[in-house]
Amino acid sequence: MLNLVSVEKRFGELHALSEITISFGPNETVGLIGPNGSGKSTLVNVVTATYGPDAGQILFRGTDITSHEAHRISRLGIARTFQNLRLFQRMTVIGNVEAAQYGMPGNVFFRFRPDDRRNARNFRQKAEWALEQVGLQDVRNRLASSLPLPQLRRLEIARILARDPELVFLDEPAGGMTPTESEDMARLIADCVAPNRTCIVIEHKMDLIAHVCARVCVLNAGQLIADGDPEEVFVLPTVIEAYLGRAAAHA
Ligand code: ADP
Ligand code: MG
Repeated sequence: MLNLVSVEKRFGELHALSEITISFGPNETVGLIGPNGSGKSTLVNVVTATYGPDAGQILFRGTDITSHEAHRISRLGIARTFQNLRLFQRMTVIGNVEAAQYGMPGNVFFRFRPDDRRNARNFRQKAEWALEQVGLQDVRNRLASSLPLPQLRRLEIARILARDPELVFLDEPAGGMTPTESEDMARLIADCVAPNRTCIVIEHKMDLIAHVCARVCVLNAGQLIADGDPEEVFVLPTVIEAYLGRAAAHA
């Protein structure tokens, strides 16, 4: 349902993505892993049109979306969370989930349409439902800025659920969490996010990846170096080398 064909992204001399060819099928839950700076977030940014690729093609359900703008991609049913969280800090928790449904990619701009206004009540109901799913119904009227990080990450998940996208990218959903909080997040992803949609999970926490993903893709220095079953991929010498090489470089 999502196909990247020879996708390239450069930042000056840096090849953030080199000739990435990869496909994700309907209802698959796939882990996207790799050392810091390997291009994981860039891949999400290129698919969701934060910026366009320098070369290659991106197809969603057979439609070429390579040069689509972000709001069009969002309306097609592709959504994401952000590694560094993008929420309206001075809006209530439920307000954040309602706002997510107004077809806004990230929080860059608001795009009211007449039918959106008419649907305001539906948005409210869906927001209530989504907050229940992630366990935030009791704090729904608090300001987002008052929540601790694990709850903010759950709020990002609620924003996704309320939109019910066909394809979702979760960019380090357990970033900054304790092992227990990560386990809760893994369960939430497996139970509420993954069913009935394609879900691509970027994470450094391999426990979480192993828990929710039946397939893992590994990036290193902008290249796809492995793609397959987690148990097989985790023990590949090239994959271990990619992680150890980096650890050694930083030692
Ligand atoms: P990851 O998410 O795997 O940690 P990124 O995709 O964020 O890695 O980054 C890949 C490489 O591209 C890194 O070297 C990073 O510094 C660089 N990079 C990412 N975004 C930009 C940007 N907007 N401008 C310049 N360089 C960038
Ligand atoms: Mg990243």
